[in-house]
Amino acid sequence: MEYDYDLFVIGGGSGGVRSARLAANTGAKVGLAEEYRYGGTCVIRGCVPKKLMVYASEFAKSFQNAKGFGWTIGETRFDWSKLIAAKDDEIHRLEQIYAKNLKGAGVELFDARATLSGPHAVTLSTGQVFTAKTILVATGGTPFVPPVPGSEHAITSNEIFHLESQPKRMLVVGGGYIACEFACIMNGLGTETTQFYRGEQILRGFDGEVRGFVAEEMRQKGVNLHVGTDVTKIEKIGDVLQVTCTNGQKHEFDTILYATGRVPNVRDLGLELAGVEQGRKGQIAVNEYSQTSVPSIYAVGDVTDRVNLTPVAIREGVAFVETVFHDNPTSPDHDLIPTAVFTQPEIGTVGLGEEEARDIEDIEVYEATFRPMMHILAGNSERMLMKLIVSKATRKVLGCHIVGHGAGEMIQLAGVAVKMGATKEDFDATVAVHPTAAEELVTMKTPVR
Ligand code: FAD
Ligand code: NDP
Repeated sequence: MEYDYDLFVIGGGSGGVRSARLAANTGAKVGLAEEYRYGGTCVIRGCVPKKLMVYASEFAKSFQNAKGFGWTIGETRFDWSKLIAAKDDEIHRLEQIYAKNLKGAGVELFDARATLSGPHAVTLSTGQVFTAKTILVATGGTPFVPPVPGSEHAITSNEIFHLESQPKRMLVVGGGYIACEFACIMNGLGTETTQFYRGEQILRGFDGEVRGFVAEEMRQKGVNLHVGTDVTKIEKIGDVLQVTCTNGQKHEFDTILYATGRVPNVRDLGLELAGVEQGRKGQIAVNEYSQTSVPSIYAVGDVTDRVNLTPVAIREGVAFVETVFHDNPTSPDHDLIPTAVFTQPEIGTVGLGEEEARDIEDIEVYEATFRPMMHILAGNSERMLMKLIVSKATRKVLGCHIVGHGAGEMIQLAGVAVKMGATKEDFDATVAVHPTAAEELVTMKTPVR
């Protein structure tokens, strides 16, 4: 049968864009529909604008630190609307590049919503219907807000990037990546910031010590962090949002950000119509080649809820193209993925946390906590944590955890060593780079546990 396209991609985000371009490069005829803006969550309302806001929020600390190095700092003032406008210009520039690169590769773009209408058919919101030999669903995720009375007065990470004015008193609900990053951003920009997390300690899933260390440093920097606390009700009284918490106390804010997780973007996508099976959270179920229960339909990225990070969506897309367009079945590798949380201080981590590793085998823990050189003259109490989890049996480094300035940059490189299976002795055999904070990673001599 003749199809309109060899590949039709639904969603122009991290996974969809990479897949469409690579497939088109093989000479395949590729179409792609994007209902909002090219670049997807990462470029438009995720990683990129978030990191720009992280940079903006770190200046207050730098001005403060500079005094310890002999600088006299004049009056400083932050202008929210200037930051948002500059950020918007940059995002617009990137979006144009994404669309241009797709067109340059020969991908036909449709500014429309697409739904599945069969194993080989998509229907666009424009009314057009296309057939394709293969369909790739890369529709990402969307914020989840629990059904708390008054939650319609809250915003999510989608809206925070477009607020017209800077909140004066803000509540962040949640204890994951987005909640912790935005609590730090808003605090750094001068907003009086409170964070409620329902569990015992923020950042569930990370190494226990890392979680405690970051929570303490966030509090030191001014984030009013309450654990074991959730919202039971939100009431709008004039311009004020009054929050009742689980302990019965009432607090007032002008903005409430819910960062309580994301769910796969599958609503009204036609999955049932096409016969595509879904998992418990609604995610598209796929095999190791990102193929769904319908052989002609594949899915990559957050919509499959495997590891919800941009570089992972991209890798899944690359493996999909290798499998389908190079006739070389390839599974994306989800093992030992390094990741950073852009809190202040930042976290960089790869591999197992201490508790997780101890449940599996006998381990040694090497660690160093110290005040980095930069902070001493600055009179800043911020400390840094470095931690290696080592297998007693194989001596392999099972996990590496860094908290402090530059942790994201460091973990990218430490991640190469851990991925290659480096042992503690390989780390020790590497000469230190002096004076740096990272040298602690190769100079930890005695296990602490
Ligand atoms: P997306 O990038 O979400 O793209 C999906 C696209 O599909 C969207 O453009 C959407 O408009 C479109 N779409 C949806 N349905 C349809 C339809 N029916 N028809 C047409 N188009 C449709 N990851 C990191 O690695 N590092 C970070 O620092 C980081 N920070 C983040 C910060 C925030 C605030 C958020 C929300 C996420 C962050 N992430 C980060 C996660 C990262 O953004 C996602 O993992 C990544 O974007 C997933 O890519 P994707 O291709 O699966 O989906
Ligand atoms: P996360 O899954 O990281 O965190 C969700 C948080 O919300 C958890 O603390 C969770 O608590 C809490 N929560 C969930 N449901 C409720 C509820 N009903 N009531 C109260 N609290 C609730 O999701 P995020 O939204 O922060 O981020 C989504 C994903 O995006 C991340 O997991 C990550 O993959 C990606 N991301 C990556 C970034 C990076 O690489 N730097 C930055 C931002 C996002 P509990 O732990 O108790 O379940």
